Amino acid sequence: MRSLTHAPVFRRKLHAWFRANGRDLPWRKTRDPYAVLVSELMLQQTQVSRVVDYYARFLDRFPTVHDVARARPAHVREAWAGLGYYARARNLHALARTVTDRGRAAGATFPRTAADLRELPGVGAYTAGAVASFAFEQRAALVDTNVARVLARVFAPRLDPKRARDQRTLWTIAEAILPRTGRATWTHNQSLMELGALICTARVARCAACPVRSVCASAPAAPVHRAPARPRRSPAAG
Ligand code: SF4
Repeated sequence: MRSLTHAPVFRRKLHAWFRANGRDLPWRKTRDPYAVLVSELMLQQTQVSRVVDYYARFLDRFPTVHDVARARPAHVREAWAGLGYYARARNLHALARTVTDRGRAAGATFPRTAADLRELPGVGAYTAGAVASFAFEQRAALVDTNVARVLARVFAPRLDPKRARDQRTLWTIAEAILPRTGRATWTHNQSLMELGALICTARVARCAACPVRSVCASAPAAPVHRAPARPRRSPAAG
């Protein structure tokens, strides 16, 4: 693994690029944990362009976690129809019931930390990190396929993001390079995901357009500009 001494420069360049180039996506305008969770579940296995419409329609029909909890499973599935992977709709329904039951007992609804979010049905490490950082601005790491690829290419090109052992190392890197505050973590996690979606994609690494190429272990070396060779002096005549 490459040393993480470049992490501060990596963060600075990445965040500046995101502020100028990040897409204006509806779930980036909210801190409602329920809305963030709906977007994260929809985005699993589904393209952003398709999710935008479904997300708006779903939230129109079920504006709060309580509305999902009260709904019949068939109605939740109906609102999900067309997105596929219906286990996500089932998980959302089960989760909504758990959250609202807890809320009645404890006077609160969504847990705020990644560790507590992971206790909810169907919530894995990635989703817990996403809801903790995107809704509650907690200092929580997340690693999905895009982020794993970016971190491996930048910091540890020998790692294989598909191998379980290497994924653990990538989580360690993700945690080690987090900014100090939860607020900056929101930007950081969004930026990492955006870089993986737009620039450092699975299909092509657009290194020439990449904001972090100067600190990336996989970037092609910059062409070396050599001074033109001096003409060789011909041996002095005579
Ligand atoms: S420089 Fe290239 S390989 Fe490195 S993060 Fe950017 S696009 Fe990916």
